[in-house]
Order: sequence, then C-alpha cells, then structure tokens
Amino acid sequence: MDNQKTGQSGSNKKASICNQGLLFIISAPSGAGKTTLVRTVLDRFADMLYSISYTTREPRNGEQDGIDYYFISRDDFKKRIDGGKWAEWAEVHGNYYGTSAEFLDDGLASGRDILLDIDVQGAIQILERYPDSITIFIMPPSLETLGKRLELRGTDSKAVIARRLVNAEKEMAKKDLYRHVVVNDQLSEAIEKLISVMEKYLLMRTLSNRHK
Ligand code: ADP
Ligand code: 5GP
Repeated sequence: MDNQKTGQSGSNKKASICNQGLLFIISAPSGAGKTTLVRTVLDRFADMLYSISYTTREPRNGEQDGIDYYFISRDDFKKRIDGGKWAEWAEVHGNYYGTSAEFLDDGLASGRDILLDIDVQGAIQILERYPDSITIFIMPPSLETLGKRLELRGTDSKAVIARRLVNAEKEMAKKDLYRHVVVNDQLSEAIEKLISVMEKYLLMRTLSNRHK
C-alpha cells in the first residue's frame, strides 16, 4: 500500500492512520551512541520492528547482511530509486542509504510499531510521507567526546572520522527539527530518557484505542 501514490481521500486516510502502528525515527551524528541505544530499545520493546536499511557502504567488521544492513551495489541501489522502492534515501558520508517503502507501508498498515535509524535528510523525507512520525535526535555531550568515541570504537580510519565530524556539526545544527532531543552523556541516563519518551507514545496509543 502506498498512500502517496494511491491518493487516498481524507476520510479513508484518517481511518487507516488510526489502525496504523507508530513510526519512531532516531537520528544522531555518527558515534553519538545511536546503535547502542537502538539495541537497548529493541530489547525493551520486543514487538517493535526495526527497519533494516539498505546501503552501498562496505560492511564493517562483525556487521552481517540482513541484520545490520542489506549491503547492495550502487547499481542495484539506483535501480531501486528508478523503481520507486524507497520511502526515503540519501547519500551519507559518500555512500547511499535507503529505507524500503514496502517494509514501512506493510508493517504500519498491519499495526506494527517500527523504529528507523536514519540520518536527518532521511528523517525530513519520512516526515513528508508519514507526518505523525515521532522524531528523536540523539546528541553527544560535545564534538570532542564524539571524536573520542569514534576513535575508541576503532572501526573507521582517521580520514573517515574527520569526515564524520564535519557532518556531525551540520546534523547537530538541525536538531530542532526533531520532537525530542536526548543527550547521550551517561549511557544509563540516556537509555532511561529515550525509553520514557517512547513509552509515553505507546501508552497514549493504548489509551486512545481503549476509548474507541
Ligand atoms: P553510532 O551508532 O551513533 O555511530 P555507537 O553506538 O556505535 O554510535 O557508539 C559509538 C561508540 O561510543 C561505541 O564504541 C559505544 O560503545 C560508545 N558509547 C556509546 N554511548 C556511550 C556513552 N554514553 N558513553 C561512553 N561511550 C559510549
Ligand atoms: P553508518 O554508516 O555509521 O552505519 O551510518 C551512517 C549514517 O547513515 C547514520 O547517520 C545513519 O543513521 C544513517 N542511515 C542509516 N540507514 C539509513 C537510511 O536508510 N536512510 C538514511 N537517510 N540514513 C541512514
């Protein structure tokens, strides 16, 4: 199902939204701790679906195809752009990343809650398509800390880290586009804050379903 392309009437659209799952978008500059936080959230909310992104970047050590990402070629990625397969896509740090439109549309239509881990460009596109998405931006305590975390993680070269830091500053300047900002200084506090934000929406949905 693709609401944009079928051009549903206002009332039909409203009815389907009521039965739809919630879409959570988490963005953060690389190294801010998003992967760590997303894993915790998925453990906490066992029924939530995670949208596995597609990327043209090379897998890092330990990353698995179909679990961390679907790793595809640039040609394949471009064919899927032409075929209208992406709910959003963007070029990030020199590689392409995209979210499957079919996965989101089918998941939400069947009432599943979905978590997206995408960059700011992607979040803006998703908000156009799904305006009720709940957007959360994870901030590092400072750029300096971010650089240190990326070095400690040990997965990227110095040049890649430098590029990620330049990008981080630009992304952090857009944090006000998000409904919620969570600073990941002490990990346990960030986890608590993030989970409480998400629980609030899940609870509101439960209450509103009860009154139907
Ligand atoms: P991202 O997915 O945003 O790129 P990661 O989750 O991979 O970031 O985190 C980057 C590095 O920082 C990892 O080595 C992770 O263990 C570490 N890290 C995450 N959160 C914290 C925190 N609050 N304090 C210290 N180190 C952290
Ligand atoms: P990494 O290469 O470190 O895994 O991710 C780099 C950046 O790409 C992160 O900011 C991450 O959120 C973003 N990203 C991952 N998947 C997607 C996606 O499907 N779409 C967009 N727009 N960004 C993504």
